[in-house]
Amino acid sequence: MNAFENAQKQLLNSIKAANIEEEDIEFLKNPKKIIQVSFPVKLDSGKIKYFQGYRIQFNDVRGPTKGGIRFHPKVDLDEVKALSFWMTIKNAVVDVPYGGGKGGVEIQPADYSESEVQKVARGFIRALHKNIGPTIDVPAPDVYTNPQIMAWMLDEFETIKGEHQPGLITGKPLALGGSEGRGYSTAQGGAYVLKEYINLIGANPAETKVVIQGFGNAGMNMARILFEWGYKIIAVSDSRFGIYSEEGLDINKVIAHKAKTKSLGGFGVKEITNSELLEINCDVLIPAALENQITKDNASNIKAKFIVELANGPITPEADEILESKDIVVLPDVLANAGGVAVSYFEWVQNNYGYYWTEEEVLEKLEAKMVKGFNEIHFIVKELDTSYRNAAFILAVRRIIEAAKLRGNV
Ligand code: NAD
Repeated sequence: MNAFENAQKQLLNSIKAANIEEEDIEFLKNPKKIIQVSFPVKLDSGKIKYFQGYRIQFNDVRGPTKGGIRFHPKVDLDEVKALSFWMTIKNAVVDVPYGGGKGGVEIQPADYSESEVQKVARGFIRALHKNIGPTIDVPAPDVYTNPQIMAWMLDEFETIKGEHQPGLITGKPLALGGSEGRGYSTAQGGAYVLKEYINLIGANPAETKVVIQGFGNAGMNMARILFEWGYKIIAVSDSRFGIYSEEGLDINKVIAHKAKTKSLGGFGVKEITNSELLEINCDVLIPAALENQITKDNASNIKAKFIVELANGPITPEADEILESKDIVVLPDVLANAGGVAVSYFEWVQNNYGYYWTEEEVLEKLEAKMVKGFNEIHFIVKELDTSYRNAAFILAVRRIIEAAKLRGNV
């Protein structure tokens, strides 16, 4: 099954658990709008190369579509469809006034110079500009895109429009209207969700062993925050190396090593593969890389007590069933990684308002949003005796259906 089929299976599982009629969610089975572009970029060699890009505006009954732009060689339409669908659910889970969207460009950025990546970012916006805007569709960073790329995209858009529109895109650098706290907000939001769950089960952070897959924006910041909060991080990985120490890793040293050598390899502890990392005996497993990492092939080997999905779609529906049969609780992506879009929303509000908040104000608002989302979902878990994933989908679908009904769309 591809990622979009997995996402639809999650939707169907959840509505069954809540007795929602299938006809009421017909409009969530297909995207509202798919934009596919092919655009030219003049490489440093003088050669022209055409890049393939996608933007999907999945559903906008609750507001402008919102979601990141991914630069990755394996981006394709099904992946972007799934990601835009999950954004629709996620934005409703944390109750921000947005629909869901997502975009991607097929590119391995590491194979191109900085000026070539800049031209790709600008070329994508030139191809898309008629379809996006602060009240239409608001992009943000995702895998292998960052604040600098958002800055180039904003500049291209504003140059075409001939006016400042900082609310076009979020995850911008502070100097261009970014928000305090946005850089690490995905991880921070996930950490607040983890804290709620740890409090609920009465566990002690110092005795809680954590394993994190992926050491980029989401994974590295999660490792840093949980390390500061006293958790024991026993293994982390990036696309090439996993490192493992039963006594716990000094995450500040790991971050410094990665910054210096661009790699986790050679840190001086045991090196493991990504598949070994997923199967370590630990309390919390945090997938923070890509989708489809825990599948029917490895789910029965997972030994974590619970999983916090910082990545989007790291667990397939078949794997979900296996994990459930092993009583492994999953705190789902649509809640656990929603801190990124929550602070993106705060950034957009500040842009529209022209007035900026302190880091403390942003974090206070973020924590309140994440705790509220967790509690609303936990209430449904108890009410319907169902999984956190189903409960999160039910919460979101109820909100989306309400908006669709008010518009006369259902
Ligand atoms: P990133 O580009 O900053 O980092 C990705 C990390 O994953 C890197 O460390 C990379 O080495 C690692 N990686 C890539 N392929 C891997 C593989 N096959 N196995 C193990 N590790 C691998 O990206 P990010 O922004 O941290 O995004 C990671 C995940 O979090 C994605 O699923 C993304 O959709 C999700 N997410 C990100 C945000 C955000 O604000 N950045 C928000 C919500 C969800």
